[in-house]
Amino acid sequence: MSGQNFAKFVHWGRNIIAVGRNYRDHCLELGNQVPTKPLLFMKPPSAYLEVGTGPIQIPRGCTDMHHEVELGVVIGDTCRDVTEDQVMSLIAGYTLTLDMTARDFQEDAKKRGNPWTMAKCFDTALPVSRFITTKELTNPENVKLWCKVNDEIRQNGNTADMVFSIPYLISYISQYFTLQPGDLVLTGTPAGVGRVVPGDIIIAGLGDIVSMKFDIIQRV
Ligand code: MG
Repeated sequence: MSGQNFAKFVHWGRNIIAVGRNYRDHCLELGNQVPTKPLLFMKPPSAYLEVGTGPIQIPRGCTDMHHEVELGVVIGDTCRDVTEDQVMSLIAGYTLTLDMTARDFQEDAKKRGNPWTMAKCFDTALPVSRFITTKELTNPENVKLWCKVNDEIRQNGNTADMVFSIPYLISYISQYFTLQPGDLVLTGTPAGVGRVVPGDIIIAGLGDIVSMKFDIIQRV
């Protein structure tokens, strides 16, 4: 692995590939079919919000913003047509993320057959924790993911329940997108997604490894 400072991947990483509908119970709660191949979309680096740097902002006109807690995988080395067996050695580390989603914008886009850009890519749509090393998270495929809103537990999942595993996802993605060091792969959210409103406080965690807290405000 090259000499990059992965603790600061947010500042220099480029592509962010997100996987939708990767937990069966979450597919069902939104009335979607469980996919037979990964559903991919992207988020831009401008959507990053590092923990401790400010609140999550509900975009203008959105009345149904949802939290989606997800494990993010930080790529450590170039991945192009990599096999599943190669994937774990190409990972630099992890981060806990919230794939913030303007669900009303997304439902409208789905109805019209439009892209999800407005629903997924706005400023502050990707809050992240600090960087988590591979030594801290030795088994990324069996770790609890949870999300509380104002002390009410909303999401309480485990990465063991992913439809497509981390090696499968990264191998699959690498057949279409060359992943570079510092790129991020979001691995999907478990059930329990729901609305947040201005004044709410989100606290999310990955096992007992990391937790993070964000205030919600309306963008004015
Ligand atoms: Mg998501």
